[in-house]
Amino acid sequence: MLFYTHIFLGIVSFLLMGRFFNGGNEIIFFFLVLIGSVLPDIDEAKSKVNKSLGMVGWVVSFFSKHRGMFHSAIFGGLLFLVISLVSNSYYGYGLLIGYFAHILGDGLTPRGIKLFYPFSEFKIKGPLRVGGVGEWALFVGLVVIVIRDLLLGIF
Ligand SMILES: [Zn+2]
Repeated sequence: MLFYTHIFLGIVSFLLMGRFFNGGNEIIFFFLVLIGSVLPDIDEAKSKVNKSLGMVGWVVSFFSKHRGMFHSAIFGGLLFLVISLVSNSYYGYGLLIGYFAHILGDGLTPRGIKLFYPFSEFKIKGPLRVGGVGEWALFVGLVVIVIRDLLLGIF
């Protein structure tokens, strides 16, 4: 999926799930959801997140294949553990929510994602082509949900 679709998937996930978590600063939590929602594409050399990280991004994309390790629940779980240990689990959940919003979003595309890579080849995939009509319809729907929430506070 495209960068802004991932961002809006992250925002909607925050609106849906953010209220079930507490124990820290909600703004930091929100930004961690956003970071998690774009972070997996660090494995794609042409992605915004990869380019913004310069040398680190280059090294990561050189040593990993796109939609491999960085699009796996295993890596998401490891990130959650690391953040929970260095900070607390509230912030770990923030990153995890965004991370899962990303890999489930990519799981809607024909290429799909391997949820338990590298331990299993089990794949989640769907019909929405990246940048296709289906993704644009999803994107518009997500934007409408966010605008409606800002105006009416539905969540
Ligand atoms: Zn991705």
